[in-house]
Amino acid sequence: MEDCIFCKIVSGEISTEKVYEDDQVTAFHDANPAAPTHILIVPNRHIRSINQVTAEDEQLLGHLFTAARLLAEQRGIASSGYRLIINTGPDAGQAVFHLHLHLLGGGRMKHPMG
Ligand code: 5GP
Ligand code: ZN
Repeated sequence: MEDCIFCKIVSGEISTEKVYEDDQVTAFHDANPAAPTHILIVPNRHIRSINQVTAEDEQLLGHLFTAARLLAEQRGIASSGYRLIINTGPDAGQAVFHLHLHLLGGGRMKHPMG
């Protein structure tokens, strides 16, 4: 996807510190953090949103969560707790149309849903 900001981060065209990277997913700090730890985990392959996922993506989706667990441990928030969010479409306020998992933690959250 030519104009996708997260594809450009994955490819390195836009230089961003990556906190995790493997052959399937890439993670980096959110530019506008909503919590002391706010990391975005994205598939390396462009998928617009959860509305576009298929059965063929199931292993990849599971891998996003494995990466989230690993990052939560590495950032020291596994036991204090964290929240994982995937916004989909306008009502959820999805702003970037490249699927991403938000990993939020490092402080007590005020609202049960963010
Ligand atoms: P959404 O609302 O689509 O779930 O969240 C998009 C997130 O991407 C927002 O939290 C926003 O701060 C973050 N974001 C948008 N553009 C960039 C960028 O260029 N770099 C980084 N690191 N984060 C971005
Ligand atoms: Zn993309």
